[in-house]
Amino acid sequence: MVRNYKYHCNNCSKLYSAEEIESGLIYLCPNCGESKKNTPLKGILTIEYDYEQLTNIYSKDELLSFAAGQIWNYPDLWPIDFNKIDKNDLAKLSLPSNQLLKYEIDGREIYFQDETRNPTYSYKDRASILVALKAKELGINEIAAASTGNAGSSLAGICARLGLTAHIFVPKNIPEAKRIQIQSYGANIYMVDGDYDQAFDLCLEISQENNWYNRNTAYNPLTIEGKKSAAYDIFINTKGELPDYIFVPVGDGVIISGLYKGFVELQKLGLIDKLPRLIAVQAEGSSAVVDFISSDRFEYKPAHTIADSISAGAPRNLYMAAKAVKESNGFGIKVSDDEILSSQKELAHRTGLLVEPSCASTFAGYQKVKDKIEKDEKVMLLMTGSGLKDFEALKVWNEKPVVKSSVEWKSLLVR
Ligand SMILES: [Zn+2]
Repeated sequence: MVRNYKYHCNNCSKLYSAEEIESGLIYLCPNCGESKKNTPLKGILTIEYDYEQLTNIYSKDELLSFAAGQIWNYPDLWPIDFNKIDKNDLAKLSLPSNQLLKYEIDGREIYFQDETRNPTYSYKDRASILVALKAKELGINEIAAASTGNAGSSLAGICARLGLTAHIFVPKNIPEAKRIQIQSYGANIYMVDGDYDQAFDLCLEISQENNWYNRNTAYNPLTIEGKKSAAYDIFINTKGELPDYIFVPVGDGVIISGLYKGFVELQKLGLIDKLPRLIAVQAEGSSAVVDFISSDRFEYKPAHTIADSISAGAPRNLYMAAKAVKESNGFGIKVSDDEILSSQKELAHRTGLLVEPSCASTFAGYQKVKDKIEKDEKVMLLMTGSGLKDFEALKVWNEKPVVKSSVEWKSLLVR
């Protein structure tokens, strides 16, 4: 197969052939790449295609005719040789095609991109799927990842679907539901006496020693590439009429960077005129990206928030995430843990969407700025993970009901 893409360094702008990067299991830029403790990654590679050539391959009507959730329908926009992948395996990796939900909330129609029904109930499946497909293509059977929970449970589930082995490094404070989900899929789990940043570094070291394919977020270029697929699905499901604003929960900054890359590609392909404004929402106790957007400075601070999926003291993809916000004319918002939990409850009550705290942060962020958004502008909130993934957060606002006898209930309830 002739590869129609190259790897591009986002720091020093060097270009590399696909063969050089992939056959050497290289992840960061060989010229300037650096993964240092408690520091955003330097020399992250992204995949660049020959967009001029691709413009003639997919017309708008053709792309809109495909079902959402099946990236292999337009194979030239992915760094995978789909001829080497079993069709039956692809069927196991389809995402729901109806992720776009619309709700009327306080006089405005709000779009929800609902990723809670993905194979392992989170957005992370988009990255795991692409990484697992590349491992299959390269003939590698073992994949490792460090995770606060969702990336790990996602990789574990996707590997189980494809008969691959997953090695997951997690911090000791991982929410119980996510730990159990990882183990339920039969993955090897390694609990690190430390935080996510320590699990990340350890996972890199051991995967290199053992020649495991590494899915660490942002570090493996395919994690960003996989996360761009939501941009195409949103394009397909809105029939090309994209939202004006998309509120995105931000931790390591890979989802927002991937989404941005997808929208920029749609623009390069001549399929959209303008980019949606990407709004980065972070918790007050984990706000390195939002702080960097306003100050251009990064300072490591240990992260503390109930929204564990967006808890990152050193966002690995900090610079690209900040660029995605600035160049899409977006902005950053911080919300408190109390605001996150009350938004989680309100969303579940008013929409039936039970999402984890990280995604509830987008609703909290929206509430803060809704008066500044014109009534006819379209707003989308990104719902990245199911609420059942974090039981502890749900316990905060769901007290156990009192127990009464049948007789007592009858006397109280029968009118
Ligand atoms: Zn470089």
